[in-house]
Amino acid sequence: MSSKIVHCTQAGCEEPAVYKVAAPWSDGVFTELKSFGLSCADHLGLVFRAAEGRRKEYHPTEAETVGNIGIYKFEQGKRDKQFQRLSGLEENYRS
Ligand SMILES: [Zn+2]
Repeated sequence: MSSKIVHCTQAGCEEPAVYKVAAPWSDGVFTELKSFGLSCADHLGLVFRAAEGRRKEYHPTEAETVGNIGIYKFEQGKRDKQFQRLSGLEENYRS
């Protein structure tokens, strides 16, 4: 069990992350959740919109596929695939 705390990625915030803003990513062999940001409870809107902006500017190579940005419940020590997607929350923030 790691004791390293993962923090919110909003500048100046030192709260622990409770959400992971990420997109499903694959290079045709491996799949993972590509992280576009981590957020505490207060900064989810800011982190989500920043992540959407970065997702639009991300140009995958021919082999890569990148899905839409989603909000996942971040749990320390869990693997990406075990994160629960919080689709209801995404609706509140999608631009
Ligand atoms: Zn924060």
